[in-house]
Amino acid sequence: MDRRAKHKVLLIVWFIAFFLLGSGVWGFQAGQLMVIGFCMASLIGYILAAFLMRCPKCRMPVLLRPRKFLGMELYTWSILTPSRCRHCGEPHH
Ligand SMILES: [Zn+2]
Repeated sequence: MDRRAKHKVLLIVWFIAFFLLGSGVWGFQAGQLMVIGFCMASLIGYILAAFLMRCPKCRMPVLLRPRKFLGMELYTWSILTPSRCRHCGEPHH
């Protein structure tokens, strides 16, 4: 299983956890806070992963993808790891 497949599994597990938590605790008084806390923790986890997961060859963050827009180079962050590096073409494992 490569890194992209692992990320898909991780995303599916995250969604299941999110819906289970959401439906499980929403009725409680602090339920919404728990869901917000879960989202914040996920966001922090994603930001950490986005900055720590770098291409072994060119050291660019693998989740950063450059896009051409009206002649300008724009950078967007993707949730799933691309199958190969957007900068140097190195495949990710
Ligand atoms: Zn690279």
